[in-house]
Amino acid sequence: MPKPSERDDWETRKDRIIGLGERSFRKSYYPQLRHNLDRLERFHTLLDHTSDFVVLLSLPEGIITDANAALGELLGEPAEALVGRSFASLGLGDAAAVLDTLRQEMSLLGERTPTPSHSVVTEFCRAASLLWLEFSYRVAGVDGTCYGVMVGRDVTERKRSHEMVAALLAEKEALLENALVGIIMVRERRVVSCNRRFEEIFGYPAGSMIGQSTRVLYQTDETFSSFGEEAYRSLVSGEGFTATVMMVHADGHAFWCDLTGSALDPLHPENGAIWILTDVTERKLAEDRAKFLSYHDALTGLPNQSLLQDRLQQAVAFSHRGGTKVALMAVDLDRFKAVNDFLGHRAGDEMLVEVAARLKRCMRSTDTVSRQGGDDFLLLLTNIAEPDTIITFLGELLRHFLEPFQIDGKEVTTSVSVGVAIYPEDGADFETLHRKADMAMYRAKDAGRNTYRFFNEEMNGDALEKMTMHSGLRRGLEAQQFVLYYQPQIEIDSGRLVGAEALIRWNHPDLGLVSPGRFIPVAEESGLIVEIGDWVLREACRQAVRWRQAGMRAPLVAVNMSALQFKRGDIEASVAGALESSGLDPAMLELELTESILIGDTENVLATVKRLKQMGVKLSIDDFGTGYSSLSYLKRFEVDKLKIDQSFIRDLATDAEDAAIVRAIIQMARSLGLRTIAEGVETKEVLDLLAVHRCDEAQGYFHGRPMPADDFMAFIAARLANGEMA
Ligand code: C2E
Ligand code: CA
Ligand code: CA
Repeated sequence: MPKPSERDDWETRKDRIIGLGERSFRKSYYPQLRHNLDRLERFHTLLDHTSDFVVLLSLPEGIITDANAALGELLGEPAEALVGRSFASLGLGDAAAVLDTLRQEMSLLGERTPTPSHSVVTEFCRAASLLWLEFSYRVAGVDGTCYGVMVGRDVTERKRSHEMVAALLAEKEALLENALVGIIMVRERRVVSCNRRFEEIFGYPAGSMIGQSTRVLYQTDETFSSFGEEAYRSLVSGEGFTATVMMVHADGHAFWCDLTGSALDPLHPENGAIWILTDVTERKLAEDRAKFLSYHDALTGLPNQSLLQDRLQQAVAFSHRGGTKVALMAVDLDRFKAVNDFLGHRAGDEMLVEVAARLKRCMRSTDTVSRQGGDDFLLLLTNIAEPDTIITFLGELLRHFLEPFQIDGKEVTTSVSVGVAIYPEDGADFETLHRKADMAMYRAKDAGRNTYRFFNEEMNGDALEKMTMHSGLRRGLEAQQFVLYYQPQIEIDSGRLVGAEALIRWNHPDLGLVSPGRFIPVAEESGLIVEIGDWVLREACRQAVRWRQAGMRAPLVAVNMSALQFKRGDIEASVAGALESSGLDPAMLELELTESILIGDTENVLATVKRLKQMGVKLSIDDFGTGYSSLSYLKRFEVDKLKIDQSFIRDLATDAEDAAIVRAIIQMARSLGLRTIAEGVETKEVLDLLAVHRCDEAQGYFHGRPMPADDFMAFIAARLANGEMA
């Protein structure tokens, strides 16, 4: 743009022109010219005050015909100095390309208005610093001459900040993309965005999860919704949410994932949340394995002592509430050392694994086998309601070990010695029970191995048996484990079979045939004798009828009565029921009462016995001579027979005192009109003496032992065949 000095120059020149033809000029052109010149000047001022660069080029030469102050400032030269220079010489990076475009578009002038505008961002080096300039440019025609009009600005700052933002974004993206955790933004349970790792963890192709529901990541609708609800509660409260959840891979396999989420804005959870996910399956497996190992024996995989201790505590607490028992058993392999010594440690280990398996096979799933190290095993039996299950278990355990082991291709026989301690009897804590079980185990070893011992010595004897029976009796009754044996009663004078005493036996699955002397007292203690007695009555009557049906002139059947049946049971109904259901003639049933029954609650018993007599059944007094032997009740109760107790009979031949007692009883009975029977007759000698004393009947091994019903039938048949009176 012209400088003020030049402008003055222009003023003088202008005035000179005006001076040449002043009159006419002033009249016609001067005001117009003046107006145009002012306008041009204002325009120049405007351009010189804009911060944008403005430059006008002549085309096609590309020579600068005009430039504003801003461009001059940029290039460090006065704007006027630029006029006449070629545009290409300014040093702008893309000058050549800009000129090309402008030249090409010269032809558009007049055809298209306005001509297309272009823009370019080009670099420019000024005093060692790189600037970025943005130009917009187009061709323009002025009075038929073609120009290039360019307007530009320094965009270095803007470009730098764009670059910075881009770099920052790239960094962030790299951070997300290279993270070893899955990162995902979720809104309304749909994936808004996620990193690659997330897709890798779940096995989805890149980008395929965007917009998808997160339901596919969960196993079931339930886990999806319950997890969602739980997480939502935490997120709206502004807390982060962390959980380890079983999730599903695209290929369907389930795996463990750690999830941590936080809401973008807890006040507006609908805006979404960021979740970080890590596949923790390996860690979880390792943890599980470590946890397993910390509670298990590495060789056998059995629970170790700490786990057993835990379980024992739980079992004790449980049993305490339920009134049941817990047994802790110390099991030691007999002669295990020999296996180690002769076959080597590897074989020893193999043996221990086999032993563990065998022990496990003996146990219920709720019980625990544990290895303490070496060949020491501990067994925990919990919640034992019926103590006889302990005996049953021990019997089975010993039996399981009778079978030889196959170790390293060789047959190895062993056995176990077991010591048993019981909660609550022997203690309530692991230490105590363990110590006592060990002590008992050593006693089992001392007793010759392949056996068991209870810590509580009493348990090794009667108490345990009683305990065992108490619980077993009812089941015995239900499982029909009871049987009746029959013992013949013979009339001494005629040798005729006149009666059969029914004697109960218990066919116990573990204890074998148990005699009534062992379990009747227990049944009386528990009251179960009432039900057992009822069964005996029915069974005996039924059997008597059977013999008769088989054509035998069957004998009377004698049934033992317990005092409790009179006290607690409805003995009349029981007897009537047995007679009725069997159809037995009441006269063929004899009830053996003990003196203790008759001296009890006399009035009631008297009435009951009277009614029984009225039914037509016979009554005898069992074990006579050992109790009160009072004559008065014999009369009142109208009994039919006295059974002289076997303690007087056994030594009848040798013991004068016994002989005197027996004689006295027989005489007294005769005087009262009662029959007598001697029980426990084992020899001909005793039988002969009884005949001398005029005893009516005899029962004992001499004539026959108690025998099963079928044998008894054979017994009758054999006597008939021998010509004896059946
Ligand atoms: P008890 O009524 O005195 O029965 C006689 C016992 O002596 C029977 O024993 C019998 O086997 C045995 N015995 C018989 N002959 C001889 C002999 O020659 N020599 C010897 N040494 N013993 C002989 P068991 O069968 O063991 O019965 C024992 C007791 O059990 C019975 O004594 C009776 O009190 C009771 N009992 C048996 N069955 C029942 C029953 O069904 N109900 C009730 N309440 N008690 C029963
Ligand atoms: Ca008897
Ligand atoms: Ca008896």
